[in-house]
Amino acid sequence: MVEIIKSKILSDAGVVHGFTEGIDFSSEEGFDALQRTLDTSVPMFKVMQVHGNTVCLTSEMSPLPWSEPAKEEADALIGDSAGCVGVVTADCAPILLYCQQTGMTAAIHAGWKGLKKGIVGSTVKAMFQKGATATSILCAIGPCICFNCYDVGEDVASLFPESSDPIAGAEGHYLLDLAQAVEVSLIGTGLSTARIERIDICTKCGSHDLYSYRKSGGDCGRQYAFICRD
Ligand SMILES: [Zn+2]
Repeated sequence: MVEIIKSKILSDAGVVHGFTEGIDFSSEEGFDALQRTLDTSVPMFKVMQVHGNTVCLTSEMSPLPWSEPAKEEADALIGDSAGCVGVVTADCAPILLYCQQTGMTAAIHAGWKGLKKGIVGSTVKAMFQKGATATSILCAIGPCICFNCYDVGEDVASLFPESSDPIAGAEGHYLLDLAQAVEVSLIGTGLSTARIERIDICTKCGSHDLYSYRKSGGDCGRQYAFICRD
């Protein structure tokens, strides 16, 4: 069994989804275990994440066996056909979206680089083009590194002035609220805060069994955020 952290708004909407903990998805074993846990035969769509702003649509992709690694480079997947979409993370923010009108799903991998390149806006706008609206999309921002743990330089902080604060007594060091920066991007597309849930669990200092790139010094596994439709 794979332990799964759930979003309240996505659970209330009745959509199969989750943020895994305690099992590594940087290899394919995690995917096999998750498929057994979900007891699903729906196809799996995966991408090779590169901190970019490319968005893929499942209707234009071939599904992969759960145990096969991804080849296509992208950082967001829109489920506009049956199947599961997801992203792997360790400190970056995983974002899951669901359109109550069309049943469309999406998963986004967002670190500061992808956010700066507009990955969140690109994904939501692509969903709008497929029939979703700002009042039909629900969104959950999953476990990621928290404000108190995310020490960045001025170069990064200056990209997110609304979401960063200088650290007193540490010149050139800032704290960045990654989840808030994601929220700012989502609100920029027209979504209201009432339709956005922040799952405030830190990958680095939280009590959940999560992988943290920073805590591990850069050598760790990955958790998986996924959302499925029939
Ligand atoms: Zn933290």
